[in-house]
Amino acid sequence: MTFLKLDGLSKTYGDYVAVKGLSLDIDRGEFISLLGPSGCGKTTTLQMIAGFVDPTHGRIVVDGQDVTKLRPEKRGMGVVFQSYALFPHMTVADNVSFGLEMRGMARPERQKRIAETLELVHLNGLDKRYPRELSGGQRQRVALARAIAIRPQVLLLDEPMSNLDAKLREEMHIELRAIQRHLGITTILVTHDQVEALTMSDRIAVMHGGRIVQVGSPLDAYERPESPFASSFLGKINAVNGQVINTRSDCCEIRIADMTVLVPHEGRDIGSQVNVYVRPEKIRIATQGEASKINGKVTTRVFLGSHWMLEVESVLGSLRISLPNTGVAPPQEGETVGVAWSDKDLRVLTAEASHG
Ligand code: ATP
Repeated sequence: MTFLKLDGLSKTYGDYVAVKGLSLDIDRGEFISLLGPSGCGKTTTLQMIAGFVDPTHGRIVVDGQDVTKLRPEKRGMGVVFQSYALFPHMTVADNVSFGLEMRGMARPERQKRIAETLELVHLNGLDKRYPRELSGGQRQRVALARAIAIRPQVLLLDEPMSNLDAKLREEMHIELRAIQRHLGITTILVTHDQVEALTMSDRIAVMHGGRIVQVGSPLDAYERPESPFASSFLGKINAVNGQVINTRSDCCEIRIADMTVLVPHEGRDIGSQVNVYVRPEKIRIATQGEASKINGKVTTRVFLGSHWMLEVESVLGSLRISLPNTGVAPPQEGETVGVAWSDKDLRVLTAEASHG
């Protein structure tokens, strides 16, 4: 059931429309990410939900109550920003205590809540330290502890991990997700990091130009992008132009370069121009005896630990191929290889969707 409703939210700065009629229904306890490139309106949307920016149009409803005109502190929301903005002159415990004192929580209960919360974010024993005596990752945890100590009904996260190094960020993704599940807090994360969105979210809302262009589970958003923007923003992808040359009841034939591929029909007209997409991990280097679709020449080969990334020059242009590391090195740069895929792994979008 919808817990947080964003209903036709817009924000205009002078002539510039930063957010355009954005609507989204979020369930209680759901973790949803607003994912998109810089300037697409993610932060503005989050700031409107938090109450720091007034919407030009639209409503924000939490648990049936219209909070659009409420002051931020009356909304029962916890917020963690990119710059954690901890109080430098206060200890960790006092930073976490701040919101509880503001809400008039009695001291014994407060002490108990601080201890519980610091344990949850794995900061027990550091309560007397000052922010300057903490690592970046620990400071980030204090900011999170401060936001969740009040047990907010909604948690808003604006790129909270962007100051952490890659390894710490990966650990925090998993930890933060576990904490969010444990507390059951409805959470909205703003990020331009697709891995972050894929790892933590129940659903991802892909934003582009002030609008949501697609909402779905991480797997859906990744496997079935609805526009070229969504397909290229969420993960690496190979794109090839094609034309529909024949349709059958359940599938259609598409011509790409000098070959024909068979894809699900989805109501396409003969002669229409399409874009054909395939993820790098859905392409294989054909093994001996396996029929390949095309031949190509390896131009780049990079080892990434868990997998290899190859670029193969072919009649379809330069194809990016991701191969799992099986302990055996794949063909080297300069070698000619057969390239194979299953047509069911191709994603086809009509050329009109390209302008969406
Ligand atoms: P980033 O990932 O870079 O933070 P974002 O998707 O969060 O980007 P927003 O900060 O929401 O983007 O900004 C959306 C657009 O609105 C941008 O073009 C920005 O320049 C503009 N904008 C934001 N705040 C203001 C403001 N106070 N006055 C004028 N324009 C603004």
